[in-house]
Amino acid sequence: SDGPADMAPDVWEKVKNHPCYSEEAHHYFARMHVAVAPACNIQCNYCNRKYDCSNESRPGVVSEKLTPDQALRKVLAVAQEIPQLSVIGIAGPGDSLAAGGKNSFATFEALAKHAPDLKLCISTNGLALPDHVERLKNYNVDHVTITINMVDPEVGERIYPWIFYDHRRWTGRDAAKILHERQMLGLEMLTSAGILAKINSVMIPGINDEHLKDVNKAVKSRGAFLHNIMPLISDPAHGTHFGLTGQRGPTAQELKLLQDECEGGAKLMRHCRQCRADAVGLLGEDRGAEFTTEKIEALE
Ligand code: SF4
Ligand code: SF4
Repeated sequence: SDGPADMAPDVWEKVKNHPCYSEEAHHYFARMHVAVAPACNIQCNYCNRKYDCSNESRPGVVSEKLTPDQALRKVLAVAQEIPQLSVIGIAGPGDSLAAGGKNSFATFEALAKHAPDLKLCISTNGLALPDHVERLKNYNVDHVTITINMVDPEVGERIYPWIFYDHRRWTGRDAAKILHERQMLGLEMLTSAGILAKINSVMIPGINDEHLKDVNKAVKSRGAFLHNIMPLISDPAHGTHFGLTGQRGPTAQELKLLQDECEGGAKLMRHCRQCRADAVGLLGEDRGAEFTTEKIEALE
């Protein structure tokens, strides 16, 4: 089809087969995550490092870490079984662009060679993003997700205890300020490069809930295509990071109210299912367990 009347044809080309960017496509096209990125360059208070990056996934589930070579084999095996597979994403378990994005780019390289029809997609906290926009463009990556939880370092210092940047560790407000500036720069660079940017925000009651309205405005003004506000999934381990009383997640009502209040700003994604970093299948469906490395090796 030609796509919605209010969407430019080149944008529609990038949206129509991507289940995360199009509410329509999410019924027909499948995505798969390959967990090739083990390292992270920041610490989020809601991450306890035992599980996947909450950029794109439900914390609390350990996904199977893969080398770029294992990832390629898994993708080829899954593509045989799931013909609707259209997108391969890298979303963890750490940050896809930490450590120079070495594994992520090696995976893209292999996929571009052996499965050129699949769309490539990446999710990042944004700290290293400005260094890699050009390279992403060269691999025809049309979709990048940045997790942005604040646009004010005062809020940020309650979410991020530290970042690792420019060969050293930064803490407190300085850390949050650098992260914020890099996220905004990365988003602006994506927009100028014609790469669609989706922004994920984790709604943390009492920390950034009201503030996410400002985040919505800030990302809209820098050209974000979609804003996905996700609830913090509370985990007993978060208590120790956020304060002695623990940190709850928002109720479904609180989430919906905030999403409604952001209406009119950057377009909201409402069909997100917070899939795992190694999810396989249609959104809301996870066939990952059918495609463990062990099973793929048995098939080969
Ligand atoms: Fe954890 Fe992801 Fe935050 Fe890194 S960016 S600390 S992996 S939630
Ligand atoms: Fe969808 Fe995010 Fe995965 Fe890309 S990285 S396929 S946008 S869930």
